Amino acid sequence: MFIKKFFYRLRHIAFLGIIKITPCPNPDLISGEDALEQLAKRIQKDGLKKVLIVTDENLVKIGLLDNIKTILGEAKIEFAVYMDVKPNPTIENVENARQMYLDEGCQGFIGFGGGSPMDCAKVAAARIVKPNKSVVEMRGIFKILKKLPPFYAIPTTSGTGSETTFAAVIANPETHEKMAVVDMVLMPHVAVLVPNLTLGLPPFITATTGMDALTHAIEAYIGWHDIKKVRGYAEKATKLIFENIEEAYSNGTNKEARNNMAFGSFYAGMAFTRASVGYVHAIAHNLGGLYDVPHGLANAVLLPYVLKAFGEKAHKKLANLAVAGGLISSYSTPKEGAEIFIQKVRDLNKKMDIPSFIKELQEKDMDLIAERADEEGNSAYPVPKILFKSDFIEILQLIKEQ
Ligand SMILES: [Zn+2]
Repeated sequence: MFIKKFFYRLRHIAFLGIIKITPCPNPDLISGEDALEQLAKRIQKDGLKKVLIVTDENLVKIGLLDNIKTILGEAKIEFAVYMDVKPNPTIENVENARQMYLDEGCQGFIGFGGGSPMDCAKVAAARIVKPNKSVVEMRGIFKILKKLPPFYAIPTTSGTGSETTFAAVIANPETHEKMAVVDMVLMPHVAVLVPNLTLGLPPFITATTGMDALTHAIEAYIGWHDIKKVRGYAEKATKLIFENIEEAYSNGTNKEARNNMAFGSFYAGMAFTRASVGYVHAIAHNLGGLYDVPHGLANAVLLPYVLKAFGEKAHKKLANLAVAGGLISSYSTPKEGAEIFIQKVRDLNKKMDIPSFIKELQEKDMDLIAERADEEGNSAYPVPKILFKSDFIEILQLIKEQ
């Protein structure tokens, strides 16, 4: 165990060195009531005559694209729409989007939706600049290394932060694997935050995607890769989410709360794209893979338990985040500050009808989930305290329906 811990930490320190010296690009940010009009101007300025909008069928059906279509039309920007992206985008989705882009003579991409359309659009754009490299060959880190065509990201949920991350996950139905493609060039060139787009999100989706964003901020903040920039972004995100998530949940048409949640998610994305996530995500990914538990829901349920499992190793940072997030103005001991923070997460879950367990979780699968979470979590995430398989099983026992 000690030797394992030592090697994990060595890797975290090496990566920290890389993060410190590698400049991470930021997307240009467009926001406000007239964000879509500003986007049209930006596309004109970039000299594009036609763009491909990558999205999913549901968003088209509920009319969420109507506004952007009108605005692009008025600005004389032609567009084609690829709307077949599946909830877990596949290689076929990527190839079809790429083919449409070529057939229609497009010159740039608009990723429009939650994480799935965004991931599909990112990898399709990568295939445009790397026509001879298959999606499977792009799996891993820095396999593209070539500037993408102009890429505009318009999130329609406040959670994934995909508009400001340089990773994408594509499913390979042949092997039933999810492949992560990670490369700085996948960072969207422009992130467009349009508060009106999230006004119709149902309360439960608002709650779970918002808790996903909160998890991004917290895991980035308490890990070992919390460089100064990361701390700043994570603190901003935590405060915005704490102050607005309940209002966005219970009064979805409150534009100000929606706008603040969009910014919270954006800043949380800026934090975790530099500092990575942690064990909450490692376990949640595997609950998603095995039972299709929605990502945000799994994170929300796991978050208080994992934070508690870190014990005193996370107390100081959680206490500081409790202050930065506006929960308290000071604390007498880090333990007290951390407990207030964790209780706040529990209270939020309760108020937003998020359960404290995962109903799909079965005893017989715990060993496998723990093993995979151990593998994923300890291969990359710079967590405050190293946990092992037996610790993950303990956490899983706590989130099992009693
Ligand atoms: Zn997440």
